Amino acid sequence: MSSPIVLPVADRWFERATIDDAITLLWEPHVVALMRCNIWHVRGRDRDLVIDTGMGVCSLVEEMGSLLDKPVTAVATHGHDDHIGSHHEFDDVIAHPLEAPLVEAGALQTLDMVQGWGEEAVAMLTGSGYQFESPYFVDALPAGYLFEQFRQLPASVTRQVVEGDVIDTGDRAFEVLHLPGHSPGSIGLWDAATGTLFSGDALYDGPLLDELPESNIADYCTTMERLLTLPVQVVHAGHDPSFDRARLHAGSELGGRTAPRSAPGTSRRAEHCADVDRSRQSHLPGTA
Ligand SMILES: [Zn+2]
Repeated sequence: MSSPIVLPVADRWFERATIDDAITLLWEPHVVALMRCNIWHVRGRDRDLVIDTGMGVCSLVEEMGSLLDKPVTAVATHGHDDHIGSHHEFDDVIAHPLEAPLVEAGALQTLDMVQGWGEEAVAMLTGSGYQFESPYFVDALPAGYLFEQFRQLPASVTRQVVEGDVIDTGDRAFEVLHLPGHSPGSIGLWDAATGTLFSGDALYDGPLLDELPESNIADYCTTMERLLTLPVQVVHAGHDPSFDRARLHAGSELGGRTAPRSAPGTSRRAEHCADVDRSRQSHLPGTA
């Protein structure tokens, strides 16, 4: 048996920032940057939304505590590991039919990159010039948390949504936008009344990913063209800081094939590539 892996102790697992009266951002500071996703809480009149749930190292529901004072729906913008780790904690889970199998797979069973993705994939990525900041998906763990105990657990998708469906919180109606490209069943949530878009990984303020095994560049281009026609005021994305309409249009040359505008991009692409590779090999045979 190999000896246990001991990482520094994290004081807190989650951090949070209040965006406005209704929206809170949570994130996991000790997840490596490339896998650290934005977890959005949207307070509604009758129902709250949690849009993406992070890696699932610690209980998100426990962390959110009093933020969750009414029924809550957990939305998966797509099924990549870094977005779905805590969906299993919620009774009401929404995903696109093409991503639901990933949400229900509980895909990631280790915090070790090579174990998780396979030596071949990591070697291939390293050989291609991708640099990993750590052999692990985290740089610390909560006190008493054993590296070896990590498992992502399967969630139950209770509602599958497609283009045009509406997710209603009582005072806001989010229209589901099907935004394929990064992944086949990526969705965004669009609140036309306020010009607010939750975009997942279809759009964020960094180099976008359209060269994953399951990505489709043509689809991505169509998605980008469509997003540029939306009267967006603010984009709350799957990674990186939120941005406004001007930034969206300034970044419209991005489709994943331009040079990274921000430093983390190269490695993020590597992580996603391996992530998807592994997911496809072990969980979605036949998905192309
Ligand atoms: Zn992704």
